[in-house]
Amino acid sequence: MGPISSSPTASLTPSAPGLIRVKSLVRASTVYQNMIDRIRRQRSSDSDSFLSSQSSHRHEPSNQASSFGLGPYGEPIKYLMCANQSTRVRAQKRCTEQGLLPCPRCQLVKYCSERCQKQHWPRHSSACAHPYLEESWQPGWVLQERLPSFACSSATFSPSSFIFPVFDTLNLTQNEGEGAFDKDYKLCFAAYADIRNLVETVNNLPSNYKGRFDVLINNSDPIITNRNLIILYALLNPEPSIDEAVELAIHFMYSAVLSAPSAAYLQRCLDDIYGQVDGCNSDFSFRASLNTRGKGRIYSFQTIAGVKQPLEMFTSTTYSLATALQNRWEILDASENVDSWDRFLSRLRPSHRMAYQRFRETGVLTPFSVDTSRFMHPNRLMFSSQGEWLGRRNFNPLQGWDATSVQVEGAKFAMIESADIFGCLFFYLKSQFRRFAYQVKDLNVNFVVTQFNPQILAKGISAGVIPIFEGACFDRVDTRDMMDDIRIEVCLADWGPLLNRGNPFASLLMYSRAWHYERPYALARCNPHAALMLFMQKCFEIPSLNNKLKDAFVQGLRSPALLRLIESLDAFYDHDGIFHEFLAAQNTESAAAAFGLGLRPRNLIHPKRFGVPLDACAHSLPDISRSQFYDLASLCEVDFSARFLEFGWRH
Ligand SMILES: [Zn+2]
Ligand SMILES: [Zn+2]
Repeated sequence: MGPISSSPTASLTPSAPGLIRVKSLVRASTVYQNMIDRIRRQRSSDSDSFLSSQSSHRHEPSNQASSFGLGPYGEPIKYLMCANQSTRVRAQKRCTEQGLLPCPRCQLVKYCSERCQKQHWPRHSSACAHPYLEESWQPGWVLQERLPSFACSSATFSPSSFIFPVFDTLNLTQNEGEGAFDKDYKLCFAAYADIRNLVETVNNLPSNYKGRFDVLINNSDPIITNRNLIILYALLNPEPSIDEAVELAIHFMYSAVLSAPSAAYLQRCLDDIYGQVDGCNSDFSFRASLNTRGKGRIYSFQTIAGVKQPLEMFTSTTYSLATALQNRWEILDASENVDSWDRFLSRLRPSHRMAYQRFRETGVLTPFSVDTSRFMHPNRLMFSSQGEWLGRRNFNPLQGWDATSVQVEGAKFAMIESADIFGCLFFYLKSQFRRFAYQVKDLNVNFVVTQFNPQILAKGISAGVIPIFEGACFDRVDTRDMMDDIRIEVCLADWGPLLNRGNPFASLLMYSRAWHYERPYALARCNPHAALMLFMQKCFEIPSLNNKLKDAFVQGLRSPALLRLIESLDAFYDHDGIFHEFLAAQNTESAAAAFGLGLRPRNLIHPKRFGVPLDACAHSLPDISRSQFYDLASLCEVDFSARFLEFGWRH
């Protein structure tokens, strides 16, 4: 699942290949043409826009990267600036020095000098004295001496939202090895939600990789597919400088509000991608072929109908920034969400509470001290055509990333304290996206973006209708959590035959969150006896926990500490026996054997569960430090009961 969920109406749009539904598509084609005309009219009427001033030569390759003025101050943020800055106070000159001295109280901002710190204090004091920064801060339900609203539901202790972690889906070094750095590889993300795993995988290709790398990225949801196509193109489009492009892609992906040049650039990307009607498109299918910075290209094959809804959304002019922000806030601040937000904050260190609060208020992913007042355009990739917020209630950009690396690299690249967690994430993403852009520039990487029901796509590939990918060609197929919807057998039958028989390391990947839904006793948090045993064991291991636990038990389910403890139980609980019961009930082994495949006893791509090493065998339990646990459980909200399955050739 990407950071943003699909629109409520997304499922109404069919996603079968165009050949089947020609009639409705011809009509949709007219709508699409009207829309393209509208974009062009908008563009030509806006004489100030750089779109019109540069559009005449936009397809000509230029030797020098153009500057689009995409950052909050007209240029990308290269380092953490002194926090003594505000564009609101026109009279005050902005300090452009590097921020080096952290505010000793909150550690969220840094200054170049004590002078700047003193000057800035009147503006910083309210944030620095916020109740969230108090160690003693308590959730609203504790202060009001009532049970939290979520305590009544049966799904109390299950993470409400979850994004699968980022990982290198190819993992050449652990598989094919150095001797195979000159081979071609084909990879399929059959139901990808965002570009994270794609970025991680391409970034991990060795810089001396000589082969051709082709990736098929598919999702049946038109909004998700097209949003990611735009983000990918924004990142790899050769025109802006790489520094600008990466910053832009970060905001497209995570910020609800954009600066004026960013919004204009979004419009321009739309025009480049969807404006290519001449020659490339037949009556019923949408085809795009886009330049990247390197040898490779981005192709997209969709139906015209599939492109219609996202394009309406991305080019909508029916709502204002105020409406968009109001709609967003109504969802974030709805009364039924107040307790779950407090519960999330109660797991965090004080400075992280404040960092999340700021991100929630501004909707912009930047370091804490950056003035976001220039972000004045709704990010139309995140709002429906009517301006409804399509993000989740507790939208957490750290989900799915490796929060430990985020903090380490934040410190390395920009000397940011881990307190400014979004500052760390901002610079971490910049470095990841930058490497991605350079890898695509230097290597031969091609992307094919499609929007089909994965089962129909699998059949289409077998029939050879998707160019570049024909038949059994894939070295890896990542089916994400499809097995939770269509059973393992079906997944194997669809994708097993498409694995490359010539590659002994070809793998089919599946993940599951739902495996225990019909076996609630599989989890410690739902199993009082197991929970009690774990409590006792913990108390024995950490004597100081005894007193804390007594306090917690007195408060019962009102106690944030007790809630945290119950939530963490599954991280250290061996559910392997019941998981294998589940696999047997799904006929996993025999279904896999029918295609010459078997479930790997030791994984080669991603560990079997969170917190265990890659080569862990059955019944291994996580062995992680306290801070790793905080990063995984509190910052990234992982679901410790999630499982990762890998199928490889039987030997
Ligand atoms: Zn402070
Ligand atoms: Zn300064």
